[in-house]
Parts: sequence; C-alpha cells; structure tokens
Amino acid sequence: MQTLLDIHQKWHEKNNCKLKALATQPVFGDGNSKSEIVFIGEAPGKDEDSQGKPFVGRSGKFLAEMLETIKMKREDIYITNTVKYRPPNNRDPEPDEIADCLPWLMEELNFIKPKLIIFLGRHSLNRFFPTEKISQVHGKLMHKKIKGFETEYFFPLYHPAAALYNSSMRETLVEDFKKIPLILKKIEN
Ligand code: URA
Repeated sequence: MQTLLDIHQKWHEKNNCKLKALATQPVFGDGNSKSEIVFIGEAPGKDEDSQGKPFVGRSGKFLAEMLETIKMKREDIYITNTVKYRPPNNRDPEPDEIADCLPWLMEELNFIKPKLIIFLGRHSLNRFFPTEKISQVHGKLMHKKIKGFETEYFFPLYHPAAALYNSSMRETLVEDFKKIPLILKKIEN
C-alpha cells in the first residue's frame, strides 16, 4: 500500500523544480497524516532547509504557540508548503517553481483528505483561489468544490512570518486562529 513517504520520495525524484539543485534537501510535509486539518505555508526557509522539516524556525514556534491557544499540538495537525525546496535568500517562489511543485502538493492533499485546509499566506491561498487577496479573505471560511479533490472547506490566515513583524497583523492572525475549533465543528455537521 502506498504511504505518504512514498508520495514524497516519488515527487522528489521526478520533480524538475529549479530550486532542487539550490536547496540543501527537500522539505516534505510533516505531522499527522490522519489529521482533519492541513496547514499550507509558502516555502521552506533557512532552518527548514537545514533540518529538512517544515516550520521549525521562528514562524514554526509562533504557529506552535497559536496551536496551544486552541488546545492543539503540532503532532495533531499536518503541515506542508506549496514549494518543497528553499528559494535562495528566502525570495518568493516563482510561478514556474510553484507550478512544478503543484502536482506534488495535490497528491499529498488527496492522500490525507483533510476536512479543512488552512492557508498560511497568499501563496497557498492563490493556489486554490487565484484572484482572492489575503487581506480581504483572511479569517473567513471559504467553500469550493474542485473536481477530483475531496476537501471542500478552506480557511485563509496571514502568514506567521509576516505577522511576526507587524503587531496589528499579529493580533488579527491570533484572533482568526481562535476561530478554527468552531469552524471544524461547523463543517462536521
Ligand atoms: N515559512 C513557510 O512558509 N514555510 C516553512 O516551512 C517555514 C517558514
């Protein structure tokens, strides 16, 4: 039977993303593959590139703190990125890099089939909702049926890295985050 690790190894081998040659290693999604929630960030940073795990640096610490406020642990959720290799100097991933990693992300998500996908920042939001702006839709539950894809509910949040250095964005992110348990209840009914 195929495992999530098989999926990651397959895509790492066949991926042509130009970042692959520049990064130290791939950063596979991590956490509970049976989770009802999957968080999707942008791309690995320096710490993630050196440790081979997503969200292990400052943003990851902040995320873990927010999870605690809703009585969840990192081990309860699954977390991944739109792009699995670190872009040099943490620049934004380019459209071709995002496109090269998209089938990988989609297969990973289709394996987990979460009830809710939480976007961390505009890059992951725009994979599914290309014309929406994170400043307008953060904290709002979104519903969309996608052919061949089981998850129908999406919840966009500001990216923790952006919110770390902006106090009003940080407050908004913390408030939006607290809505997660209620949203889960709502979509389960
Ligand atoms: N920011 C991201 O978007 N992803 C990580 O894995 C770390 C920081």
